[in-house]
Amino acid sequence: MRSFQVCRCGEPMQFAERVDPKPTGSEVLLKVLAAGVCHSDLHIWEGFYDMGGGKILRLQERGVNLPLTMGHENVGEVVAVGPRARGVKVGDKRLVYPWIGCGTCKVCKRGEEQLCMSPRFLGVYRDGGYASHLMVPHPRYLLPLGKMEPLEAAPLACSGLTAFSALKKLGNLVKSEPVVVIGAGGLGLMAIAIVKAMKGKGTIAVDIDPEKRAAAKKLGALAAIDPNAPDALAQLKKAAGGGVWAAIDFVGNEQTTQLGVDGLVKGGKLIVVGLFGGQITISLPLIPIRAMTIQGSYTGSLAELEELVKLVRNKPLPLIPTKTVRLEQAQDIIKDLKAGKVIGRRVLTPA
Ligand SMILES: [Zn+2]
Ligand SMILES: [Zn+2]
Repeated sequence: MRSFQVCRCGEPMQFAERVDPKPTGSEVLLKVLAAGVCHSDLHIWEGFYDMGGGKILRLQERGVNLPLTMGHENVGEVVAVGPRARGVKVGDKRLVYPWIGCGTCKVCKRGEEQLCMSPRFLGVYRDGGYASHLMVPHPRYLLPLGKMEPLEAAPLACSGLTAFSALKKLGNLVKSEPVVVIGAGGLGLMAIAIVKAMKGKGTIAVDIDPEKRAAAKKLGALAAIDPNAPDALAQLKKAAGGGVWAAIDFVGNEQTTQLGVDGLVKGGKLIVVGLFGGQITISLPLIPIRAMTIQGSYTGSLAELEELVKLVRNKPLPLIPTKTVRLEQAQDIIKDLKAGKVIGRRVLTPA
């Protein structure tokens, strides 16, 4: 098998060649048909997150070992199954749930493996899909595609699931209030499409880039606002019908999270998803006085991915601008992501 590996943080990825692994126990080996390039791959490749105030969180101190094959948004075709792998056969095409935990702790047993303290996430702690083949520890992490093409399904594993899980945290507000989507990159556009599939009230996109605002409008956002406009906050509140009940910050920088907090009505909810970095100051009395909820959301659970796939598998989401690229081009895509030049998704097609 061939894989494209990060060998040193921030340096170009390198090809590695080895014999195809043989699945043992419950393992399943897939040939990779589609591997999405996610913005978080940029952070993994760089090796750190900016925590604000000059602090940095190094991924290698958090158990990310190199060399690593990135890629956590994968669709593959089963090519070999271990002796204890039930429910899949050679030739099946499947979407892979990558946020795999230890499987034995309380959190994993509760079904929230994405929050496990001993994670085995594919493409982060274990080898992922920037490769010809991908090993998955158990068939329960493999989901049928329905009517979706591999290209349509792959981004559901991360950007789709992340957007969906954040929306689920807003509860019934999705149905009754417009959801403010801060950041109309891959994740934000996905959220806009999913709100439609959920038959929600609608979305209001916020992005500094006019092209991304146009993409959001094209996907059905009710309004698209430039946060750099001098009256951005007033525009936002007006578009939301007086104040914001429900917002998701897919950027997570000082300006966006501040805007999200400032826009909330009493009882409003802000879900922070983006990992851009920085810090904000909040007056503590405002938390109770405005009864605000600020909640973080990190990917989503296997059950949520199953629910999302059920929601969209027979009526795939309107295709977010997606381009397929060869495995060899992964490094260029990472560079474009760093420069903020990618609109929509890029999906590698190794097979
Ligand atoms: Zn991702
Ligand atoms: Zn666990």
